[in-house]
Amino acid sequence: MSKLEMKLCGDLVLRRQCTPVDAITPDILDTMDEMVRMMRAQNGVGLAAPQIGDTRRFLVMMTPDDEMVYRMINPRIVEYGPKTCVMEEGCLSVLGGDDLPVFANVTRPEMVTVEWTDESGASRAAQMSGLAARIVQHETDHLDGKLFIDYLSPVRREMVMRKVRKHKA
Ligand SMILES: [Zn+2]
Repeated sequence: MSKLEMKLCGDLVLRRQCTPVDAITPDILDTMDEMVRMMRAQNGVGLAAPQIGDTRRFLVMMTPDDEMVYRMINPRIVEYGPKTCVMEEGCLSVLGGDDLPVFANVTRPEMVTVEWTDESGASRAAQMSGLAARIVQHETDHLDGKLFIDYLSPVRREMVMRKVRKHKA
């Protein structure tokens, strides 16, 4: 049982612009550990601070192929590759009537370069492609109050929202 509560689509905390972290406190490290546990428990591959109601810029994510876990503080996507690709996305904050994430196809850049501060305070940078690039874009979007459904056409978005409205709070 997690002590953190998942915030769901419709909660305004998911629409807030998050504030940069200026010091890595034990509270942030503990919260990130708890978020990793939550992410794994719900078979997710990423979780951003606003999803548990914290409006500071940090996230956790996992690359499914090698199960490498990243704890990113103040992540920034500094470069986007020229090619885009379509992938199916879901979100632990966007659930349907069956209490499971609702999925939809989203077009995004296929490759990104991301910079962040890790849990030890070190500056890190990585070029990511494929699923890792997808996850990091989805999660950093959360820190700017953006959800994957924002990229959908009005018709597609309504199809998703119809399912979301069946989710009982
Ligand atoms: Zn999400």
